Amino acid sequence: MNNARNSFDIFCFHRVLPESEYDSLSNDEKAFSVTIDYFESFLKFASNNYEFKSLNDVISTLDNAFPKCHITFDDGYKDNLKYALPILKKYSAPATIYVADKMISRDISKPVNLSSLNIDDFLSWDEVQALDNEELIEIGGHSSSHKILSSLSKDQLVDEIKNSKKVIEDNLGHSINHFAYPYGGKGTYNIETIECIKDSGYKTASTAICKKFDLRKDLYELPRYFVTQNCSPQINLARFSGISNLIKHQLLP
Ligand SMILES: [Zn+2]
Repeated sequence: MNNARNSFDIFCFHRVLPESEYDSLSNDEKAFSVTIDYFESFLKFASNNYEFKSLNDVISTLDNAFPKCHITFDDGYKDNLKYALPILKKYSAPATIYVADKMISRDISKPVNLSSLNIDDFLSWDEVQALDNEELIEIGGHSSSHKILSSLSKDQLVDEIKNSKKVIEDNLGHSINHFAYPYGGKGTYNIETIECIKDSGYKTASTAICKKFDLRKDLYELPRYFVTQNCSPQINLARFSGISNLIKHQLLP
């Protein structure tokens, strides 16, 4: 196996849509969306190159025997349930869906800086619970209102991380283990953010940064590869496993 390559790659998606819906999106929204056909071809290709694993499996085993990967979705869109789940099941691919509780509770009428500005595109709590009941799906935290965490006061951080975790757990009836930083690029989180995430009891935190990493040391800065529609699955995987890993490539928020 190429040394430049992580033995565990995490892929980041947001929305998975039928072609007609994808075509009707703005260019900004398209940057965070893939079509159902694309998602299926990506999983098919990944299934030939990786073992699909849950985040919990990977952090508890840590063996390098065969490249492993994990699929993640940020923000919690209805299409994750409607369109992505059947394909995840077809390929037995575990996935983590990171949700911002105020989006799910409709405490925010207009989402900002997300891949859809329509609050109705986000999952409801009933739908988050339905996903949580699926064996392959794990729900993770993505803060309360999707702010840039490095810009917040200590009290605001507790609200966005610790209290948000509690709200999600109360709705699911069990604890959650994994967090993804909103936006997730360099500078959107800092040492205080990481400390608050650890204090809250999260076991991992995912970024939106591609880099070579050490799973034993970097559990609170897990790199992720942002998958885009305009590259073939083959090109995307080649990109992930090659130069992006070496140059600490900064991804889109
Ligand atoms: Zn997000």
